[in-house]
Amino acid sequence: MTRVLLLGGTTEASLLAQALAQAGIAAVFSYAGRTGAPIAQPLPTRIGGFGGAEAMAKALREGGFTHLVDATHPFAAQISANAVAACAETGTPLIALQRPAWTAQDGDRWTRVADTAAAVAALPDAPARVFLATGKQGLLPFALKSQHQYLLRLVDPPEAPLPLPHASVVIARGPFDAEGDKALMIGHRITHLVAKNAGGLGAEAKLIAARALGLPVILIDRPTLPPRSEVASVAEVIDWLSHAGTERGV
Ligand code: NAP
Repeated sequence: MTRVLLLGGTTEASLLAQALAQAGIAAVFSYAGRTGAPIAQPLPTRIGGFGGAEAMAKALREGGFTHLVDATHPFAAQISANAVAACAETGTPLIALQRPAWTAQDGDRWTRVADTAAAVAALPDAPARVFLATGKQGLLPFALKSQHQYLLRLVDPPEAPLPLPHASVVIARGPFDAEGDKALMIGHRITHLVAKNAGGLGAEAKLIAARALGLPVILIDRPTLPPRSEVASVAEVIDWLSHAGTERGV
């Protein structure tokens, strides 16, 4: 019988959880536990790291899981690499539900960079007003350019003092809309946007807003992951579940 381990933490993972529940497919939803009050799921839910790839392999075996779906954020590179390793070890079919990366459109003023350090380097030296829309992880490198006024948007209020001396914090959970993000950027007199190329509709609002305002964007490219099968829609995952397993290692 099919039993899915679903690695979540994204809007797409929540949509897939709904589809699995509706289809009556047995599944367990796994959260990293990064936010204080994760969205409730219509599936049995576990919260917290497994303890590395070996431990995830053990959890796959002991939990009787027949399939693993990685619907984590495109920048959650460690858990995704662990999933590839654990599935290779246990012979569990793996698929990643990944939203396509964003591509530049007319009017975009994007500087694409490889990582956070390169994003810091791409910011100007003269004091600017930066919407740092990269989440709570990876703020520290921006302390190298502490002359800027930073606007942070976080899911939970920060638990520790921020490493940035001039920072305003907005507490909000996506999805966001372009008009709202435009008003936010105007209100904070933003001159630059720094974002990760996460893809997806709800997180795209800030890029649409930056385009409308003619603002420069520093966009961090996705990390490189080990080879794996990927699909872009919930329907494709459901379809894959109906035939994968007879094709070990798909
Ligand atoms: P990461 O660096 O790839 O993962 C670090 C560790 O956190 C993993 O090795 C694993 O611990 C644990 N972990 C991550 N996702 C997990 C899951 N779904 N279930 C159980 N354990 C998990 O990931 P991250 O960047 O910290 O992201 C953590 C979570 O936040 C992910 O679920 C991701 O989808 C979500 N998220 C991330 C971002 C981002 O920009 N990185 C943005 C939005 C949402 P063990 O090794 O102990 O198993």
